[in-house]
Amino acid sequence: TTQIETLEFQAEARQLLQLMVHSIYSNKDTFLRELVSNASDALDKLRLESFLDKDLRVDTSDLHIDIEVDREQRTLTVRDNGIGMSRDEVIQLVGTIAKSGTAEFLRKMKESKDAAASRDLIGQFGVGFYSSFMVADKVVLLTRRAGQDEATRWESGGEATYTIETVADAPQGTSVTLHLKPADQEDQLADYTSAWKIRELVKRYSDFIAWPIRMAAEQPAAPAAGDTDAEGGTDAEATPAAPETLNSMKALWARSRDEVAEDEYKEFYRHVSHDWTDPLETIHIRAEGTFEYQALLFIPSHAPMDLFMRDARRGVQLYVKRVFIMDDCEALVPEYLRFVKGVVDAQDLSLNVSREILQQDRQIQLMRRRLVKKVLSTVKEMMTADPDRYHTFWTEFGRAVKEGLLNDFDNRETILEIASFASTHDAEKPTTLRGYVERMKEGQEHIYVMTGESRSMIENSPHMEAFRSKGYEVLLLTDPVDEVWVESVPEFDGKKFQSIAKGQVDLDTEDEKKATEAEREQQRADFAGLLSFLGTKLTEDVKEVRLSSRLTTSPACIVGDAHDVTPTLEKMYRAMGQ
Ligand code: ADP
Ligand code: MG
Repeated sequence: TTQIETLEFQAEARQLLQLMVHSIYSNKDTFLRELVSNASDALDKLRLESFLDKDLRVDTSDLHIDIEVDREQRTLTVRDNGIGMSRDEVIQLVGTIAKSGTAEFLRKMKESKDAAASRDLIGQFGVGFYSSFMVADKVVLLTRRAGQDEATRWESGGEATYTIETVADAPQGTSVTLHLKPADQEDQLADYTSAWKIRELVKRYSDFIAWPIRMAAEQPAAPAAGDTDAEGGTDAEATPAAPETLNSMKALWARSRDEVAEDEYKEFYRHVSHDWTDPLETIHIRAEGTFEYQALLFIPSHAPMDLFMRDARRGVQLYVKRVFIMDDCEALVPEYLRFVKGVVDAQDLSLNVSREILQQDRQIQLMRRRLVKKVLSTVKEMMTADPDRYHTFWTEFGRAVKEGLLNDFDNRETILEIASFASTHDAEKPTTLRGYVERMKEGQEHIYVMTGESRSMIENSPHMEAFRSKGYEVLLLTDPVDEVWVESVPEFDGKKFQSIAKGQVDLDTEDEKKATEAEREQQRADFAGLLSFLGTKLTEDVKEVRLSSRLTTSPACIVGDAHDVTPTLEKMYRAMGQ
C-alpha cells in the first residue's frame, strides 16, 4: 500500500512557479531545452558514478534521451535512463530552489514594474525545471535512482503544493510528463505535440548534447502535412518502429572555429551557463602538443546575482576525453574570474581525478595560466575593437576582476591595463590608467587617487580642493576592493599610486615653493599659538595639528598617516566584526 503525501513548495519556489504559470517569459519554447539539459546532466552523472563506483550495477551501454508525444492526451514526455533521484532528492531538488541569489532575484523581480525588465531578469536567473509550467498545467515526474529499488512519483499543477508517492517499480532514470495547456489559448501556445515542432526545437537548442535525443517513430496513421522529415529520414521510413535521433551530438569544443556557427555557440553557452541570454564574448582554444586540450569559454553579458556572495560558484566544467568530470572546477580559473563559463576538455587526465589532485597537477596549472591570459587578452582586445562591449564588461565584472590585483601577481600589469576608473577628468566616462598617465601634468610624478563610498562624497571632500584648483586629475575609487588593492599595488607604468587623503602631498612647483617659503615661515609663527592650543584641546583625537596648503575654501580637514587605515576600510572592518 502506497501513500500519497501532499507537500508544500518552499516559499521562493512558489513565487517562481507563479511567475511561470502566468508566463511572463515570452519564449516558451525554452522549456524543452531545460528538460533536455537536465536529462543530459543526469546521463553525465550516471556515467561518471558507474565509473567511480564499481558496485553500482547499471547498464550504461545505451544511455539516451527519449521524447514522446501523445496528440490525443496532449502530453509530452522527456525520459532519460540517467542517474535518477531518490525520494529525498526529489523533495530537495524539485521542491526547493537552492540556487544562491534566489532571494535577491525575487526582490528585484518585485521591484521591477516593467514587464520587459522582468523578462530580462527571468532570463538571467534561468528557472530550469519550473519552466515546464509555462506550457503545462500539470507535470508528472517519475524517477528511480540508479542502484535503488523503489521509485518516486511526483505531481504538481504548479500551485502551492505537490504530491509525492513511493511506487514499487519504474525504469531507472527519470521521465517528466507535461500535460500541455490547451493550444488555442490567447497567447497562441505552439503545438508541442507536433513531431515537426519537436524536431525543430531540438535542432535549434540542443543539437550539441552529447547523448542521443530520440523521438519514437510516429504511427503511420494520419500524417499531417508539416510532419514530413525535411532531411529525408530514410531510416524512419524503412523501419517505422526505430526511433529517430534528432541531434548531431557533436562536441562543439572539439570542432574548429570555422565549423561552428555563431548560433551554435550561443545555444551551447545557454546550456553550460543556465543563462538564457547571449554571451558577451566567446573564447575557443585548441591546444595541441604534449598536453592536448580544448577549451570553450564564455564571458556572460551580465553579472550573476550571486557574484559577490560567499558561495558563488565558478562556471567552468571539466571533461576528460569528452566525459564529463565535474562542474565548478576551481583549479581551472582563479576566483576573480569566477564569472567565466564554459568547458575544458583535457585529453591526458585520468577519469577519476579529484579536486585535490587537480589543484596540484602541473599540467592543470599550465592550462590555467594559459586560460587566464587568454581571457584577459580577450578583454584587452575588446577595449580597442569594441569599446561599448568593453564598457559593458567592466561595468558588470570590473569589481570582481580587481580582486585579481590582490593575488594574481603574474597578471597584475594586464589587469591594471584593462581596468577603468571614475575620474575627475570626466563626469560620465571612466578612464583607463593609460589615459590618466597620458594626461598627467608636467612634473607630476604620482597617480592621484581617493577612495570613498561614493563619487559625490569624494568630490565634496576637503582633500579634493587643492587638486581641483591646481588642475590635477584624481581617480575616484568607490568599490570596497579599491581600498585594498590601492594599498598593495605599488605602481602603474612606473608611477606610484598616491592617496590624496594620506600623508603629505606636495603639489607646489619649485618656484611656488621658493615664493611661499618665507610666507609659510611667517604663517607658522603667526599661528603657532593656535596650533598648539588646538593640539592640546584635541590631544585625545588627533596626533598632530598642522598648517596646510591643501585647502582653498574649507578651514580644516582630517588627514590620515601614510599607512593608516582609511575611513571606508575602517567601516568595512567594523561591519565584518573586527
Ligand atoms: P538546475 O539544472 O539548474 O540545477 P533545474 O531546476 O533544471 O535546475 O533542476 C533542479 C535539479 O533537479 C537538478 O539540479 C537535478 O539535481 C534535479 N533534476 C532535474 N531533472 C533531473 C533528471 N532528469 N534526472 C535527475 N535529476 C534531475
Ligand atoms: Mg536544469
